[in-house]
Formats: sequence, structure tokens, C-alpha cells
Amino acid sequence: MTDLFTKFDDLIKTREDLLSTGVTDPFNLVMEKVLSPTVAICNGRETILLGTYNYMGMTFDPDVIQAGKDALDNFGSGTTGSRVLNGTYAGHKACEEALRDFYDMDGAMVFSTGYLANLGVISTLAGKDDYIILDIDSHASIYDGCAMGNANVIPFRHNDIEALEKRLKRLPEDAGKLVILEGVYSMLGDVAPLDKMVPLAKKYGAMVLVDEAHSMGFIGENGRGVCEAQGVIDDVDFIIGTFSKSVGTVGGFCVSNHPKFEILRLVSRPYVFTASLPPSVVATAATSIGKLKHAKAKRDHLWENSKRLHGGLKKLGFQLGTEDPQSAIIAVIMPDLEKGAAMWEALLNEGLYVNLARPPATPANMTLLRCSLCALHSDEQVGEILGMFERAGRATGCID
Ligand code: PMP
Repeated sequence: MTDLFTKFDDLIKTREDLLSTGVTDPFNLVMEKVLSPTVAICNGRETILLGTYNYMGMTFDPDVIQAGKDALDNFGSGTTGSRVLNGTYAGHKACEEALRDFYDMDGAMVFSTGYLANLGVISTLAGKDDYIILDIDSHASIYDGCAMGNANVIPFRHNDIEALEKRLKRLPEDAGKLVILEGVYSMLGDVAPLDKMVPLAKKYGAMVLVDEAHSMGFIGENGRGVCEAQGVIDDVDFIIGTFSKSVGTVGGFCVSNHPKFEILRLVSRPYVFTASLPPSVVATAATSIGKLKHAKAKRDHLWENSKRLHGGLKKLGFQLGTEDPQSAIIAVIMPDLEKGAAMWEALLNEGLYVNLARPPATPANMTLLRCSLCALHSDEQVGEILGMFERAGRATGCID
């Protein structure tokens, strides 16, 4: 018998070597109690959360929680079925209506996760003989959507407008083409030049899909994302998003103005062949989306937090993923995994949780400490966070 686990031996060894240094396992942290969107008890200690995707702090919103409780009482704990059979409840329809209203678009489809939304839309839309042109740093769910379909997949250099044009130019004029971009790239927190890329894609006859997972609720006048902020939302064919970040629950969606959009409900396998979201989840999502529409004050405060943390970390001497703050994600670049894990643990001991990210999730083999801010982080917390980074950075030799 060939042991099918042999292929993981290198990874097992890397992990064992790291843990043998005595560091806490950064990929096995347990939140013992969650006190608010910005504070939890981890390892018995009160910890500021700076590594969640709870950008708008909706997880503890009283209206959101009440909507979930009401739905549990009135509709039960689960649907036990697919959206196309017994799994569409009034709550799923209300959630799709909330999305149409939020984005001011004609069509909305709710999937069970954002991962499934990418899988379901990409694999179904782009088939044999079609072309997908995508940023090389695209999220795993986008790549998996490509792998599940049969289209020719052509990556281009991250955020490189000329590279995108070069690829588009070479393709047969009458072939089906889908350009896939993200609003915010989640590893470094940088934003795509959608104002240049979307018109370019259109010039070459391509449809455009933008994943706005990390920008929904926060970026843009109405929180519709980078497409809105850069004035190209009307030219984008499909926006993919998730409920697992600003919305504060779980689920995924696609919105579109395409007149034939609804047919995807019958042909998209990751929509058809999985159970729909529980009624409590769609109720929390719909309530949260409705409130996000009117969350300008929160958006403003989140920008202030992002600017202050970015400026403060830069001043301390940390190397950051972007020159200027572009989103709610601020990535601190670590020299290697060992130093990254040591710094991660030093921060945890200070009472701060950040995300440790490593290849293959990160670009260019980088080890990153990813900080993601919340609109509910107070000014005082941001000050505390900077103090923690300073002490941990000096203790581990990451800064002088
Ligand atoms: N797209 C992007 C860009 C993401 O970062 C993520 C999740 N991190 C997803 C899609 C998938 O979202 P979900 O958690 O809802 O599966």
C-alpha cells in the first residue's frame, strides 16, 4: 500500500520544527469566550482581536442577534435541503431582496458560503473554449472555481494593467471571456485599479466579475465596495461577496444586472447540490445588510483606525504590505516563518490577536502578520495595539 499521506511529509516536518521551538501553535488558537467584536478570552486572558474579518462589528449588533433568535423560534434550526427543493424559506428571499437593495441591482443569489459562490458562478459561467483572465493573487476559491470548470485559465501579474491588456489582446475576438478581479486583496490589503481594469476588459469584449469580500460594507459611499469607490460598478457584470466578513455571519452571494442571471439557480452545482443556509443565518444576514447601508459613521471611524494603525506601525519601523492605508487590512511583513511565529506569540502574550499568514496563502512566499481592523475598535484600543507592537517588536528583534 502506498501511504497517500506521504505527500504531506514536508509540511508535517515544517510544522514539527516550528512547534519544537516551544511556540504556541498559531493555527490552533481557541477563542474560549467572545466578549464583543473586538475582545475575546484566549488562553484564559482577555485579548484584543485584530485578526478577524469583523470589519463593521456586526456580530454583536442587538438587531442582528434578535433577528437570528426570532428566526430560530419561527423557522427552526435548519432547512435540511437545497435551495431548489425544500431549502428556500421566506428568509432566503428576504436576504436576496436586502442584497438587491444594498447594491441597487436586479439580481441576487445567496449561496451557502462565499467560497461556494465563487465556485458556483465561475465554474458554471466559463466553460470549454471560454477564457478566464485572472489576477495571479486571486483567492483560492476563485482558483478552485476555475479548476472545477473547463475554461482556459490565464493569470496575469498582480494589479498589472499592462499585463492584463497583453493577455486580452492575444485572445480570439469572438471567444467568451471572463476577467476576474478582487476589490481588496486580502493578504496585503491592497486595492485593485478597477477604474483602469474594468474599462480595459470591456474594450476587449470580456465580462467582468469582481470579488468584493473584503470591501463590502466599508469601502465606497454606500459600502458597495471598490467598484463603487472607483466609479465602475455599473460596468461590472458580477459582484461576488460573503456574509462572513462585514456582514458578520456566514454565507455567500452574487449580484448582477444580467437579464439571464436567474438561470444560474438551475445550473450552478454548488448552489443546487448543497443545503441552504439555516433560517437564523439568513435572518441575521438580511438585518445586518440593511444596517450596513446606513453605516457611514462607522465607515468613517474604520478609515481613521486604518490610517492611524498604518502610520503608527510604519513609524515604529515595521515593513508593511502597502505604502499607504488602502483598506481595513494592514499586513506586517516578517522576515521568515520562525520570526513571524515568535512575534505572533509575543503579541498574544501582550493580549493581542493578529493573523499569522504563510505560503501558499501569501504572495511571494511571504510570512505576514495580518492586522484587520474593526469599526468598533476604539481610539484607546488602537493606542494599546501600537504599544503592544512596539514591545513585542523589540523583544523579538523585529524592530530596533
Ligand atoms: N473571496 C475572498 C477574496 C475571500 O477572502 C474569501 C474568504 N476569506 C472568500 C471569497 C470566501 O468567503 P467565505 O468565508 O464566505 O467562504
